[in-house]
Amino acid sequence: MPLVSNEVKPLIIANWKMNPPTLREATFLFNQVKKTGAVICPPFIYLSVLKASGAQDCSWEERGAFTGEISPQMLKNLWIEYVIIGHSERRKYQKETNEMVEKKLKAVMAAGLKPILCIDKISQLPQDIKQGFIVAYEPLFSIGTGKACPPERAEKMRIAIQKFLGKRVPVLYGGSVNSQNARDYVKKAGFDGLLVGGASLKPKEFIDIVKLAC
Ligand code: PEP
Repeated sequence: MPLVSNEVKPLIIANWKMNPPTLREATFLFNQVKKTGAVICPPFIYLSVLKASGAQDCSWEERGAFTGEISPQMLKNLWIEYVIIGHSERRKYQKETNEMVEKKLKAVMAAGLKPILCIDKISQLPQDIKQGFIVAYEPLFSIGTGKACPPERAEKMRIAIQKFLGKRVPVLYGGSVNSQNARDYVKKAGFDGLLVGGASLKPKEFIDIVKLAC
């Protein structure tokens, strides 16, 4: 199974984070943006109702006494294709370490899902796995701040990541993406797609981002 689907080239991922507060709003938003073909990652509780194709996280465990956790196989048993792992907010608030994220990476791959590994530095890349996943380069200063990383600077990091992993690993950019800058990350800086947080909650803006990037 290819890592980047043919429906959307480049690959655009919408990370809704812990939004919106009601299923009604989630359904309304989803229906407005689903035609873009982007991968929408809503909170877990909306996944099965919306039939979305992406999740924001998962456990590295397969099953058992892990209260509150969701296994990769549970996601696979819906119709989930992509799983975000190692997002900076989980590293910060849930204290996820590189070791924990690597366990998730392996578990997600073993379940036949496509992991999107979020990093902001090369040292967060796994040492011994060089393919079978997607990287999202998300500089910390850009996430949710409105301070997008200059495309030239982001491009240097994309090149460094692909030097480390090889060119078969798709690299996305994430961090304050909007309709003004989306195109530059793909067309100028050479990213294979985008991971969009805040702007993915605004349907018109998100639709514009997808159109401009593709
Ligand atoms: C994110 O949550 O991964 C993200 C990039 O957020 P934002 O687009 O809001 O900066």
